[in-house]
Amino acid sequence: MKLEIEKNSLEDSVKENELKIESVGTVLEKSKHDLQIALAETETEEAELRDKREKFIVQIDKNLLSEYDKFKKVRGGYGIISISRGACGSCYYSLPPQMVIEVKRRDKLIKCPSCGIHLFYDDTE
Ligand SMILES: [Zn+2]
Repeated sequence: MKLEIEKNSLEDSVKENELKIESVGTVLEKSKHDLQIALAETETEEAELRDKREKFIVQIDKNLLSEYDKFKKVRGGYGIISISRGACGSCYYSLPPQMVIEVKRRDKLIKCPSCGIHLFYDDTE
């Protein structure tokens, strides 16, 4: 009789554990599902950003190229010229020192305020 009771109680606890496992399994499935959605969203976002970036690059290059080409035609061969002793190498306009620093930094295109040619700094000079 005592064994019978013990057996019943063990059976109960097995059933209880089975239920627990089942509910944990459900939570796990749900989490997996959520994770997949989040991953898919991240991937979509990444693809969109990559797409935008490529469009921007193409856009920038086009603008730059068209300006450069325009200048080449006007200047007869030169679209860009180096700074010579702090002055524009094309029209010899003396550039403000701040502008010379910016040209040396090379993080953006700078045009001569006098003749409009693109300037660069030639450090072999
Ligand atoms: Zn100039």
